Amino acid sequence: RELTVQLGERSYPIYIGEGLLDQAAFYFDKHGIGKQSPLLIVTDEQVGRLYLDKLESGLRAAGYRTVSAVVPAGEQAKSLLQFEELITIALKAGLDRKSAIIALGGGVVGDLAGYAAAAYMRGIRFIQMPTTILAHDSSVGGKVAVNHPLAKNIIGAFHQPAMVLYDLETLRTLPPREVSSGLAEVVKHGLIRSAEFVAWIDENADKLRALDPEALGYALYFGCRVKAEIVSQDERENDLRAILNLGHTIGHALEAVGGYGELLHGEAIAIGMVGAARIGVELGAPREVYEVTKRVLAKCGLPVRLPAHFDTDAIMDAMRHDKKFKEGRMVFIVPTAIGDVVIDKNMSAERVRRIVEQLKEEEQ
Ligand code: NAD
Ligand code: ZN
Repeated sequence: RELTVQLGERSYPIYIGEGLLDQAAFYFDKHGIGKQSPLLIVTDEQVGRLYLDKLESGLRAAGYRTVSAVVPAGEQAKSLLQFEELITIALKAGLDRKSAIIALGGGVVGDLAGYAAAAYMRGIRFIQMPTTILAHDSSVGGKVAVNHPLAKNIIGAFHQPAMVLYDLETLRTLPPREVSSGLAEVVKHGLIRSAEFVAWIDENADKLRALDPEALGYALYFGCRVKAEIVSQDERENDLRAILNLGHTIGHALEAVGGYGELLHGEAIAIGMVGAARIGVELGAPREVYEVTKRVLAKCGLPVRLPAHFDTDAIMDAMRHDKKFKEGRMVFIVPTAIGDVVIDKNMSAERVRRIVEQLKEEEQ
């Protein structure tokens, strides 16, 4: 399957299919990645062990020069320290303005490598090769960043990739918990744009969890399409793009309070989406919005209840660090129907607090 992210001169293709890792050289060549300048492949230890040799040998056989950087697996790799490390490797390998940096991995590798590509020589080309379900979201749209000890994703840029090459075969080695975490963003794309797609996930959740190639290919294509459409209309998040943050205001706070270890990103936003649905119903959406949201997320193997030991004050404090929090009010994405949301720019922190408390009482 193939899609285009429409952004004028910065438009780029997304290829989704099986066996694309082996054909990387073909696609690179097709999109003008030259063989004169070296390429830097960034991956993490886990993904590197599984797929780096395959990618490198294919590229080298086709005449590309490659160097690789293998970072530790996990969120800690999104740091200024790792960023500097990548720049060192890039300099030593002689990467120039015609070089490209390739991200082979999940959202962590994509965000880190993308930020290095955005900054190195004020920006060189960047290719996303996602290997997680979650990365169907993070690899599209050009938001790249590393974390600061005080705040996640706070050092970043907009830097669109030249191409997204999504080999679904790599997903077969994903741990089940990572599969479910990634499905949370798939569900999110349905909840903001398509009731039909949500109904389809409701029917096919088991197949998705079992990585059925047909079902997964369709779901990831649909998810990428929703993301691509929204990014095309509002690349820099002036307005519309904010709807992609459904479940994230609460979710990011839960990740922070859990020390970025207890809850995976998708798990945290799943709980956040249940909270958002509850708020939607309070504000007049049909009760089905809450029921369907919760049911579909649970079918995907996601938590819908907030573990009781999460401290509500700490969660509210974490939300205050959010860029969009001011005087007890925040920007919050509120579902109005399945497949539809609105951006509430004046949500009361008090209401959110009450909902967070209720999330500890949800039936799992
Ligand atoms: P991740 O990159 O840490 O990958 C999850 C784990 O799975 C890692 O341990 C990794 O080594 C392993 N893994 C990856 N691919 C594998 C494979 N094919 N087989 C076996 N193991 C594999 O995490 P993620 O969930 O992909 O991404 C989360 C990150 O994405 C967060 O940092 C989040 O902030 C970021 N994000 C960014 C955007 C964006 O728009 N830029 C959007 C959403 C999320
Ligand atoms: Zn997310």
